[in-house]
Amino acid sequence: MGKLTGFLEIERADRTYRPVEERLKHWKEFVEPLPESSVKSQAARCMDCGIPYCHNGCPVNNQIPDWNDLVYRGDWKKAAENLYSTNNFPEVTGRICPAPCEAACTLNIEDKPVTIKTIECAIADRAAEEGWLHPQPPQKKTGKKVAIIGSGPAGLAAAQQLARAGHDVHVYEKNARPGGLLVYGIPDFKMEKTVIARRIKQMEAEGVTFHCGIHVGQDLSAKYLESKHDAVLIAMGSEKPFDFFAESPGRDLDGLHYAMEFLPQQNRRNAGEPQRPKTREISAKDKHVIVIGGGDTGSDCIGTSFRQGAKSVTQLEIMPVPPMKENKALSWPHWPLKLRISSSQAEGAKTEYSISTTGFTGEDGKVKKLHYTRVNANLQPIKGTEGALDADLVLFAMGFSGPAEDDVIKELQLPVVARGRFKGLDATDREYKLATSPKLFCAGDVRRGQSLVVWAIREGRQAAHAIDKFLMGTTALPR
Ligand SMILES: Cc1cc2nc3c(=O)[nH]c(=O)nc-3n(C[C@H](O)[C@H](O)[C@H](O)COP(=O)(O)OP(=O)(O)OC[C@H]3O[C@@H](n4cnc5c(N)ncnc54)[C@H](O)[C@@H]3O)c2cc1C
Ligand code: SF4
Repeated sequence: MGKLTGFLEIERADRTYRPVEERLKHWKEFVEPLPESSVKSQAARCMDCGIPYCHNGCPVNNQIPDWNDLVYRGDWKKAAENLYSTNNFPEVTGRICPAPCEAACTLNIEDKPVTIKTIECAIADRAAEEGWLHPQPPQKKTGKKVAIIGSGPAGLAAAQQLARAGHDVHVYEKNARPGGLLVYGIPDFKMEKTVIARRIKQMEAEGVTFHCGIHVGQDLSAKYLESKHDAVLIAMGSEKPFDFFAESPGRDLDGLHYAMEFLPQQNRRNAGEPQRPKTREISAKDKHVIVIGGGDTGSDCIGTSFRQGAKSVTQLEIMPVPPMKENKALSWPHWPLKLRISSSQAEGAKTEYSISTTGFTGEDGKVKKLHYTRVNANLQPIKGTEGALDADLVLFAMGFSGPAEDDVIKELQLPVVARGRFKGLDATDREYKLATSPKLFCAGDVRRGQSLVVWAIREGRQAAHAIDKFLMGTTALPR
């Protein structure tokens, strides 16, 4: 349980960031790891409160008090084994998870939760450095073949679990490299891609075959995959962007782009990967950039724009500014609505709340101004508050409505409802099946709508459990 009186004696301390002026010069991660002694003393703050709310707050149910205790006692290897038993990719969540576990920590009642995410990342990075990330190939093969469409965290987690259970796993990915949004969406400054490449190598050694550059539904039919495999998992993500301005004046001007047109280009440049054919390169250099949307994707657009050399970055959010501090009696142990300043926002962006875009105007076909009105708490325009902002590049980051293409969905005749989800399924369904064929399963954002990496990992693991049970009649894979 960490140190008996640790939470009384030791103050919360967390990782810090490299200075803004320095980190804007490169694309590398800028979070400073805590020294080993500090990680151990932070783990000692865990008071093993009896009902581990953190464990429940974590979507993969990481056994947080257990590994806090192991770290405090210096048994990093056992801590890593424990962590891997619930989470396939803690080196990823330790970097980019919003950490709902910390919101649920009992010490958060006093705003001083255990630095769970930092400890998780330290365990995962230590395991990689020490060479404990051995491939775990199965002792026996089952002779069953599983195809997975999509190699984001949901597809990868499912592939790893199923390969370890002895199945012959084939992952089909339309992009050149596996990883989904981990590789093409999330910028390198939040997570360097060596982290993913290391995992892919491990998974290949465990028997997973990756078929990259193959768009199922175009290069290969989904029906063919279904006929050649004993089960098919659809883990295609949810990358079709919402566009609330389709009818707005000036929408056809040059310089208006979806976030997911902009961000993958930079990730490809950093990796030395050529852009997709017929791509028009987008750059924020020397531009007034406006990002519409206040979530993770919006923040990633801000950080990327600054690193490309934007003149200014303004972020617009239609919702009112959230409260600085939540009412713990009402919110704890759940994720509270409160003002959070992302590391990218802190790099110099101006964020405007309660503001709605009404259109765009430009010169020579290029956007020059974004027009807005302020809105009230019911999101209704307030007369007389109209204005315009300089805008050379406008990035839409307003959420996603379902899979980017509908070819697989049409081919397999999957009944889709709002936000890309499949009819008859909701996030509480535990079979991960699709009603159209007993062989078809689905997981990740395509199933629950755009969410978090940690939820995609959980869905991948649970789908693997369901598939193994379907193929073998029984399963030892954890949910
Ligand atoms: C810019 C951005 C930043 C984010 N930042 C964070 C963050 O900091 N923390 C966090 O927890 N979450 C974040 N998220 C959300 C998170 O990335 C997703 O919830 C998660 O990646 C979903 O995983 P997935 O496996 O379901 O889908 P994806 O990661 O979207 O992977 C789906 C894969 O399927 C492939 N695919 C689709 N159709 C086909 C086809 N027909 N044939 C072959 N392949 C196909 C796609 O190319 C893709 O590689 C972010 C999302 C975005 C867009
Ligand atoms: S995966 Fe996320 S929620 Fe779970 S322990 Fe790690 S940081 Fe917390």
